Amino acid sequence: MKKWVFWLVILALLGYEAMHQKPERVNENQGIEKFEIRESIPTKSEQTLKIMKDQIYQGNLVLVNKDYPIHQAGILTDVVNLFQHKELVDGYVLLDNTVRLSRSIVKSFTTMVKAADKEGIHHFMINSGYRDNSEQSKLYKDMGPDYALPAGNSEHNLGISLDIGSTQSEMSQAPEGTWLKKNAATYGFILRYPKDKTAITGIQYEPWHFRYVGLPHSLIMQQKNLTLEQYLEFLKQQKTLTTTIQGVNYEISYHPISKDTTIQVPSNRKFLLSGNNMDGIIVTVF
Ligand SMILES: [Zn+2]
Repeated sequence: MKKWVFWLVILALLGYEAMHQKPERVNENQGIEKFEIRESIPTKSEQTLKIMKDQIYQGNLVLVNKDYPIHQAGILTDVVNLFQHKELVDGYVLLDNTVRLSRSIVKSFTTMVKAADKEGIHHFMINSGYRDNSEQSKLYKDMGPDYALPAGNSEHNLGISLDIGSTQSEMSQAPEGTWLKKNAATYGFILRYPKDKTAITGIQYEPWHFRYVGLPHSLIMQQKNLTLEQYLEFLKQQKTLTTTIQGVNYEISYHPISKDTTIQVPSNRKFLLSGNNMDGIIVTVF
């Protein structure tokens, strides 16, 4: 065979290989991949929400402790005297006629005690709810810094926290205390000052003090054994977090806020905003 014929045959074979195999297969795959990606991206419709700086001071997740005082904007606006609203006192009793609490928190509390009742636990009593500054000052003077916080630094000043008792015995011994410790998180409440977290909260173990934070936050905090201080720090580090609880998909995101601004939220889902009382807001989409 002549040399040029030999090389012609080689070139022809290489050309055939190049044209008929690899390029076609690659193109085919790329086409499929592009198609699949396009199919899997959900249509996202968003809306722009105006956020005022003051919003960092209000909501179910505001942190109130010795370092972060309450702001006027954070006090719940639906606080009522429960003794004067007997229709709200259902499934529990009041220590006295001064007990005040946010109406919406009472609603969640009632749902919780009714669930406990079904399990045979039904001797609940509210000992204290909302306290104004002069009541808190007196308590701080009487109880001291290990058991109370100065006026303006207590969650009781918001109307979001309550001291729950049992008509039978002390909460550390009572079935009501044991039940709440295990189940309160399912109803949006947290045991705010646990025994093993006194170094973080700065407050002694209080088996009676519960605070509302809402779902899914209460359950995440319980699962991860985090106080509110630790949970807010965790959210700040995570920035976004998704979880499914009781069949509901939640998307939680932290947004630092230093001035009036805007954020994007989905326009086709419900959402709830809360400040952290420090430096940002948390958006809970569900
Ligand atoms: Zn308390």
